[in-house]
Amino acid sequence: MSFKDQNFAGKKVLVRVDFNVPLDRETLEITDDTRIKAALPTLKKIISDGGSVIIMSHLGRPKLGFEDKFSLKHIVAHLSALLGKEVMFCSDSIGEEAQEMSNALKAGDVMLLENLRFYKHETAGNLYFAEELSKLANFYVNDAFGTAHRAHASTTMVANFFEGNKSFGFLLENEINSLEQVLTNPKKPFTAIIGGAKVSGKINVIENLMDKVSDIIIGGGMSYTFIKAQGGKVGSSLVEDNQIATALKVIEKAKAKGVNLHIPTDTVIADKFSNDAKIDECDIFEIPDGWMGLDIGKDTIANFKEVVLNSSTILWNGPMGVFEMENFEKGTKEIAYSAVEATKRGAYSLVGGGDSVAAINKYNLGDEVSYVSTGGGAMLEYLEGKRLPGIFAIENPKGFIMRDN
Ligand code: AMP
Repeated sequence: MSFKDQNFAGKKVLVRVDFNVPLDRETLEITDDTRIKAALPTLKKIISDGGSVIIMSHLGRPKLGFEDKFSLKHIVAHLSALLGKEVMFCSDSIGEEAQEMSNALKAGDVMLLENLRFYKHETAGNLYFAEELSKLANFYVNDAFGTAHRAHASTTMVANFFEGNKSFGFLLENEINSLEQVLTNPKKPFTAIIGGAKVSGKINVIENLMDKVSDIIIGGGMSYTFIKAQGGKVGSSLVEDNQIATALKVIEKAKAKGVNLHIPTDTVIADKFSNDAKIDECDIFEIPDGWMGLDIGKDTIANFKEVVLNSSTILWNGPMGVFEMENFEKGTKEIAYSAVEATKRGAYSLVGGGDSVAAINKYNLGDEVSYVSTGGGAMLEYLEGKRLPGIFAIENPKGFIMRDN
């Protein structure tokens, strides 16, 4: 049953969200509330149905129990303002206080539990901790895609205790639907744009996509390993020597499967890894010694653009160059604009993975592509074809595999 068809009237709903938002170091104020806003539709639906909500999340990476700077109490005021109602805060995530507060909740009430990661049991996927959490509610909703690839207590193990009473929230449902839209029967031509620093980080994604796409565009730091593998001179560009054989295999496999593999032909080079470096452009096979490639060149941009504009489905993960520095952002920016243009012409475009999201947001284009994923690691694992524990635990009535810890 889809989330919108659930009726939460009279239910106590334990909702796992991702409120892992950046806080200002000094004032501890929220500096970017995107993740909180992303969970609002789910929370509002439960409230308007007449359910009560018990929100749980992690924040940062606390090491030894309670640490003030990681307390979720810092987000209560802002969350209350966004929801338009007072959010009650519980200074623990399990135990007596949490249980009493939960028992007292009335229809439409909202409470927020303290940071789950103050207990090491959370990331350990501890079943007893998960069971304690489950006692607070009679329905479980997972709306945190960013942690869906982790078998943590609140993301996965807790689902064991809600057979028949669990569901994805709107956000997680949207993430799954948009990923499925590109992975299952995508409209062709389907182009995957894969960039970023290293081949090793993306190879499993490339392998899994090889059977689904018509075109693969390779950009970013990883392209220089492909160039060196083909006998090119790459100067001091980023290269993974232990991935050369892998790069050659990708080239072979693409040929065998009839996938068009687009590797850069020219590159922007710099004499050091800095925005103040001397810069030039050259054939990507002829990078002089002492120079490094930090962005795709003019011809490559033109070629890649044409491929993107002719696509009906676009999946983009990873920048084309060091887009954080102004002198090396052109390739990434142009690809972002071509994905937007293709979307206007009717293509479905999905952008995901930490740095491509940062890039698309840098150019304020988030609303002009079809979907921007909220999960970095989770999205990569999904694209690799892995089964994510947080998703499996909802889909499988019995939940996840029991662990004795
Ligand atoms: P990833 O996390 O693997 O997607 O890699 C993203 C990072 O790769 C960004 O921080 C980029 O600055 C970096 N990157 C992109 N192109 C290059 C390049 N040519 N040389 C070094 N780093 C790069």
